[in-house]
Amino acid sequence: MRRLLYASLLIMGFALAGCAARPADERVISKMLDGPLDTVSTITLYGWSGDEKPIEDIFTMLYGIDARMSAISEESEISAISGRTGTPAKVSKDTFELIEYAKKISAETEGAFDITIRPVVSLWGIGTENTRVPGSEEIDAALLSVGYEGIILDKAMSAVTLSKKGMRLDLGGIAKGFACDKAVEIFKNADVRHGVIDMGGNVYVYGLKPDGSLWKVGVKNPLAGENGYFCVVEAADRAIVTSGVYERFFESDGKFYHHIMNPRTGRPVDNGLISVTVISESSTQADALSTACFVLGAERGRRHLAMLPNVEGIFVADDLSVRITPGLRDVFNIVDERFKMAD
Ligand code: AMP
Ligand code: MG
Repeated sequence: MRRLLYASLLIMGFALAGCAARPADERVISKMLDGPLDTVSTITLYGWSGDEKPIEDIFTMLYGIDARMSAISEESEISAISGRTGTPAKVSKDTFELIEYAKKISAETEGAFDITIRPVVSLWGIGTENTRVPGSEEIDAALLSVGYEGIILDKAMSAVTLSKKGMRLDLGGIAKGFACDKAVEIFKNADVRHGVIDMGGNVYVYGLKPDGSLWKVGVKNPLAGENGYFCVVEAADRAIVTSGVYERFFESDGKFYHHIMNPRTGRPVDNGLISVTVISESSTQADALSTACFVLGAERGRRHLAMLPNVEGIFVADDLSVRITPGLRDVFNIVDERFKMAD
């Protein structure tokens, strides 16, 4: 269990708050998801005297999103859209709205976030056993099929058309956040008052801790091969979402290649960052922005977050310097002394 929690953001609610025993009214359920959500998801309820229904409903919802939004499964709505460029594909309301939102974030981040990145992700074999470093010509060819402007949305028909040849969608940078927000809705409708949703790198702390204090959430140490957390953020009713190089990577000829792609170059982002965390009330927003800010880099990323109300960020560079947005000053602590504040 300990290893599993360290594999993602670490929830420190009770476990590290000084009391060794877990509270009697804590309910924890973990299940594996293997589509775009691709993680062990853990739902925890505190002070909950009702039945297991909210947790069951959450997993039913998560399996549904995993199935519909997979870029790999041929049965998914994403494959239906990707497999027929030039022709509209009718999709569920959820899928439509998420694609619409992703396109908006793409425009706002000048294409740093781009769900049409799939041809590039596939070329590098990210997420498969066949990772490789492609040649420049292959990358240039794949980039011809990338560009969010080519996603045509028909809201009345709930239909999505990809206009360019070879275009394919990849919701891997946003689907977990969306699923987490749906889980929060289920908590709300069931009158859950205190809970944690942990989807590996996407955490939502719901309500306050049962004792009325803020939750303490540890952000994973981004050094590849290391476990544990390097900082702690205190929050309530917030999504805390991290994008890091350590999540998926491979090495070739002594070089390190990770899974967050620069849609301009068709190559893994190479700007010195090793992890970006975004904290927001919306997990969908935090997920999209953690990926986007990784691509934008620490300076542009921080400037972008500063324009958004109630959205904060933590940027970690490969020299272990850490930059945060001003709103975190009183709720953020570094706990691993190898990491230092940059300013
Ligand atoms: P995350 O862990 O949320 O940062 O998402 C990373 C995943 O999103 C990758 O594994 C890809 O599937 C996809 N992805 C990679 N680069 C981008 C990008 N620039 N914009 C949107 N999605 C991306
Ligand atoms: Mg993301």
